[in-house]
Amino acid sequence: MSSEYRLTDFLPTTKKELELRGWDYVDVILFSADAYVDHPSFGAAVIGRTLEAAGYRVAIVPQPDWHGDYRDFKKLGRPRLFFGIAPGCMDSMVNKYTAARRLRSEDAYSPDGRHDLRPEYPTIVYTKILKQLYPDVPVILGGIEASLRRVTHYDYWQDCLRPCILVDSGADMITYGMGEKPTLELARRFSEGEGSAIDIPHDIPQTVYLADDITPREDDIVLHSHEECLRDKRAEAENYRHVEEQSNMMHAQRILQPLRSLKSEGRSLTSAISHQPSWVVVNPPYPPMTTAELDASFDLPYTRQPHPKYKGKRIPAYDMIKFSVNIHRGCFGGCAFCTISAHQGKFITCRSKESIIKEVKQVIQMPDFKGYLSDLGGPSANMYGMHGRNLNACERCKRPSCIHPQICPNLDTNHSRLLEVYRAVDALPGIKKSFIGSGVRYDLLLHRSKDEAANRAAQEYTRELITRHVSGRLKVAPEHTSDRVLHFMRKPPFQQFEDFKRQFDRICREEHLNQQIIPYFISSHPGCHEQDMAQLAAITRRLGFKLEQVQDFTPTPMTIATETWYTGYDPYTLEPVFSAKTPKEKEAQRQYFFWYKDNPQNPHNSHSPQKSHSPQKQPHSPQKPHSPHSPHDHHRTDPRSEKPHDEKRGRHRRH
Ligand code: SF4
Repeated sequence: MSSEYRLTDFLPTTKKELELRGWDYVDVILFSADAYVDHPSFGAAVIGRTLEAAGYRVAIVPQPDWHGDYRDFKKLGRPRLFFGIAPGCMDSMVNKYTAARRLRSEDAYSPDGRHDLRPEYPTIVYTKILKQLYPDVPVILGGIEASLRRVTHYDYWQDCLRPCILVDSGADMITYGMGEKPTLELARRFSEGEGSAIDIPHDIPQTVYLADDITPREDDIVLHSHEECLRDKRAEAENYRHVEEQSNMMHAQRILQPLRSLKSEGRSLTSAISHQPSWVVVNPPYPPMTTAELDASFDLPYTRQPHPKYKGKRIPAYDMIKFSVNIHRGCFGGCAFCTISAHQGKFITCRSKESIIKEVKQVIQMPDFKGYLSDLGGPSANMYGMHGRNLNACERCKRPSCIHPQICPNLDTNHSRLLEVYRAVDALPGIKKSFIGSGVRYDLLLHRSKDEAANRAAQEYTRELITRHVSGRLKVAPEHTSDRVLHFMRKPPFQQFEDFKRQFDRICREEHLNQQIIPYFISSHPGCHEQDMAQLAAITRRLGFKLEQVQDFTPTPMTIATETWYTGYDPYTLEPVFSAKTPKEKEAQRQYFFWYKDNPQNPHNSHSPQKSHSPQKQPHSPQKPHSPHSPHDHHRTDPRSEKPHDEKRGRHRRH
């Protein structure tokens, strides 16, 4: 820790730290399954600092011991308003297990990478303990784990559908998506005496609650019940389309999901079930944050350090992001395997240049900073400043992606504002170089619109990116070579990657730079057959790549890829889709990545994939719909969004 920070500069984590502040009570206690890192990329810190700035007394209990006598849950007593659960920057199961369901070697969000400091499903484990100890205190869920389990979803690790996580946990409410606004409003309401664990407010946007009795309004979307989804995979697929569309609309509708069938025994749902809640109610989200609101969140007085209690211990995720700065939220890519769509949505909110510069100056002051920013990015690196030209059209738009299947003609793809930010950062004394570690959308760079100024800016950006912001290896994510599979992934045709690679190589030649492109690929994505992987091996070999950045598709909750994988249907067309599911099928696909390795287990080594496995045209073969849930946000390291991962790349892949 920098010597300039005192213990009281952090949110308190112990009774002693409360006393140091002279507090004899707290308003909100947050239980976090990640280590407490006081940084704007760590969700518990963001919520804690947001509440603190509004005048509330907040404490954080990071990684409480859930065994024994629950002393970590008792040590600060009961809060005046509510308990909050921050289960971590990643889904706990993604954090813990690989796609093959093997235990990972370390937990990136724990000191020294220890993986015995968080339970599976901390949302459920912590809530049950708190409800046992303090049944009358409201428990509010936040974070990716609860956000992406707000309605019926497939859980890959249990290999079954689970209902809204409020049912499994016994908590009172979920704040989904980015939690600052709903959490603040909730605190205000509780503070004014409105609400309790048995009577929580029902009109707060971006929250989810269970209700016994509800009369759907005309403009509500009523999903198939959980019970129906258990019986019928098509119903589950149909539900997902609505959830994704509403998560990406400026003015969304309320979503209702009955837990049991409305036709149950010929009676109405509410009369059929008397003692258990019958409905999940998902209030529509707040409109996207404004620049001023986002600046205010990033300008909170973070120390940017792990709490002093971790002195000397390595927190891998912190090491990755301590010299990086996040410049926007949201992503309009809509990649099928990515959780951003259902969590942050597609509208981009940018920080102002001033706010970004202010944070970069803070980084420059860090004692071990040597002048190199590891990332100046966001969920995707180059969406900063982009939005629809005609906002009225965007207000009515339901598309989950602004760039797939084609770039929307209404989208302003001008990179000038982003270039201004890069240049302002690079001009700061103390910055030797700013790297772009977040994934770059090359389809936006290649796009030629009617706006000549935007086209010129894209070319300028491409050259500047390659000459000034690449650390020798530029990571990009074509994800596959088969256009059919890419369509399922909602990614651009592979030809665009080849076009971008040609530009990259030409600029490197002209500028005498020895740099490489590192492509990312995924195997076993829904729609991908073994023959598609053979084609991938042949094409990447022709292009001279020995692949390192690869991963096997992991179904994580509430992505369209997961829902397709589990149900066997495309949620939009309801056409059957094949997915490789068994460990044998998945391994057979994965092996094609490593055709160049001398591995006796690899049936494809030592010969040309072109000869032995020539690509074949694949029909859309119907799939035996079977079980299942993904961490493939090849997005940046904002732990408030879920990260991609794989064995090679770790869990922090960006795109
Ligand atoms: S109208 Fe176009 S730019 Fe606007 S939100 Fe829809 S897809 Fe995106």
